[in-house]
Amino acid sequence: MSSEPLTQIIDSIPADIDHLSLPTPFPVGPVNAYLLLGERLTIVDPGMIWSDSTDQIAARLATHGHTVADIQQVVVTHGHPDHFGAAGWIAANSDAAVVAGRAEAPKLLGGMDRTRLGGLIADLGIPDGTRETFGLFYDGVRDLTHPIDPGRLVLLDDGDTLIAGDRTWQAHVTPGHAVGHLSLYDPTDRTLLSGDHLLACITPNPVLEPDLDNPGGRRQSLVEYIDSLERFCRMDPMSVLPGHGPAFTDVPTLARETLTHHRSRADEILQIVATAGQPTPFDLVGHLFPQLSGFSIMLGISEIVGHLDLLELDGAVDRHVGPPHRYSAA
Ligand SMILES: [Zn+2]
Repeated sequence: MSSEPLTQIIDSIPADIDHLSLPTPFPVGPVNAYLLLGERLTIVDPGMIWSDSTDQIAARLATHGHTVADIQQVVVTHGHPDHFGAAGWIAANSDAAVVAGRAEAPKLLGGMDRTRLGGLIADLGIPDGTRETFGLFYDGVRDLTHPIDPGRLVLLDDGDTLIAGDRTWQAHVTPGHAVGHLSLYDPTDRTLLSGDHLLACITPNPVLEPDLDNPGGRRQSLVEYIDSLERFCRMDPMSVLPGHGPAFTDVPTLARETLTHHRSRADEILQIVATAGQPTPFDLVGHLFPQLSGFSIMLGISEIVGHLDLLELDGAVDRHVGPPHRYSAA
């Protein structure tokens, strides 16, 4: 994490795309929604059912001579509540399809399912009392999301195309922050809607994900994330419109800074593992992020587990299979 931009911020975005900053109750702050204006009126990441968020969407649509009922598509970059919370509400008030990466469907349809991480939680060494506080988060967030009618879902795979606004977009489905994370790229003017996959000021959390192809297993979210960066560097988009924070350009610099950050964070974790005596991921949260409480602890754990995966892949740590899993320096 960092709050200084890791690359070059830009002041203007293409004229056929209108940006809204919608409130969320989360520490990340507001979420960016985008209206893709033109023949196929589309909204990307319409925020949550919270505060005046949906009123803001309606008011902005009115400035373009539209109502919510005119929306033809809702694109959801990934199934986190700050991005998809209002998608079902828009679909219920229009004929809109809800478009997302295929692997995000369980999150979009399951709402805030607190059993999703199931068996993975036991591996992390989280005490029961701490784990119980996570339930409060799920219960609180459930009210900020509107159910999505499964019949409205249109699921994309990597390499598909999508017509939205007046553009034809390439779908880039890349795991890391979310297993089916969808970015949309228009090569004609090198515009990228990057969701939370690329952000100017923070490195995306490699959120823990169960591996649906391997029951009981989990994805190596940070390893997969780093593997995905190369393609965005090759794309070299001119305008990147992210899910949070300012628009930016120069993805190769962002990628370089991101890799440097992860390398130094992995070194820091290795030092702690070497002196802490076979810690669990939860023990490491206490060392690295002692200020975290409630559900934020899960984000701290994702960050730590991601780096432990990198270290394990490098042969720098050994994992002692639990539950809970414990780590030692190799
Ligand atoms: Zn987000």
